[in-house]
Amino acid sequence: MKVVEHYSRAEEPLISFEIIPPKRGGSVKKVFDLLDQVMKYDPPFIDVTYHAAESHYEELSDGTIKRHIKRKRPGTIGLCAAIMHKYGVDPVPHLICEGFTKEETEDALIELNYLGIDNVLAIRGDAAENSVQRLKNGTTNKYAVDLVKQIKDMNEGRYLDDITNAQETNFCVGVAGYPEKHFEAPNLDFDIQMLKNKVDSGGDYIVTQMFFDNEAFFRFVDKCREAGIECPIVPGLKILTRERHLNFLPKYFHLNIPEELSDEVQANPTEARNIGIEWGIQQCTELLEGGVPGIHFYIMGDPTPALNVIDGLPMGHKAVGK
Ligand code: FAD
Repeated sequence: MKVVEHYSRAEEPLISFEIIPPKRGGSVKKVFDLLDQVMKYDPPFIDVTYHAAESHYEELSDGTIKRHIKRKRPGTIGLCAAIMHKYGVDPVPHLICEGFTKEETEDALIELNYLGIDNVLAIRGDAAENSVQRLKNGTTNKYAVDLVKQIKDMNEGRYLDDITNAQETNFCVGVAGYPEKHFEAPNLDFDIQMLKNKVDSGGDYIVTQMFFDNEAFFRFVDKCREAGIECPIVPGLKILTRERHLNFLPKYFHLNIPEELSDEVQANPTEARNIGIEWGIQQCTELLEGGVPGIHFYIMGDPTPALNVIDGLPMGHKAVGK
């Protein structure tokens, strides 16, 4: 089922999760162990990220973060097929512009269509020094909006080559939004205009970048509505669990950690995980009371903090689900 149908049919806000495929050569069993835990919470859909390159981050002595790049991380499409068949849950593969030609993207969309996968999240990805080389004999999508257009073209039977009677695909397309603006955008209003372009070009719903300050999210939603964006806007949340997140998350994801949270963690670093979970419970409670259509948890390799948050919600996780 399409993600937007899940939202329109839901009587309560939906809880969804986002995972990352294992590193090249890694075991898929770990991912299934993680999914086994998450399935008890009855998610309507699970996102699986896509990566132009595997990265790891090194914190240098001057406090800056250096990103080291290796080869593409495989497995997104295979994992999505496994999620659908093993758990009967709708997978949402991420597709990215960076590192992929339009031709490769078209091939991926054909695979997804044959697998019966109805959803994709269209993302630009991040360019990085010594990033994967773009292929010489192909074209690339520059911005996420270009990828949205490519997917919507296929939904209308327009492929890259002129094909007579080409099969129309039927993808529901999610796009990314940034409550604290995307780091390259000159200001939030500009970024929201670019977001509106993605929605006007066929984006069906928005999932936001993680944030720790609900005011930023609610302000962002108000501005999106003023700009004429009417689709569901789903808050994306990560639970802070370590003191080093105070430095790493703002630097890498360009977000603000409220002073109250950072002061609390710095005063008691060994309790960072519990403080982060408590913060997450308060954040979710306020977001749910504020009428969000759902909450999307970035769990990546470890679902426990997010599940602790859901268990700690005053309304209980039974009240939140499909
Ligand atoms: P875009 O929408 O293309 O925007 C990027 C920047 O360009 C913005 O500053 C925007 O304002 C600007 N812009 C857009 N159009 C134009 C234009 N026509 N002219 C001038 N400026 C323009 N990364 C991954 O590698 N893999 C993933 O699976 C992944 N999943 C993600 C999921 C979510 C929910 C989010 C929020 C992010 C995810 N990312 C992922 C990170 C993402 O790739 C980066 O944040 C990237 O820098 C921007 O992606 P975007 O799709 O928002 O880009």
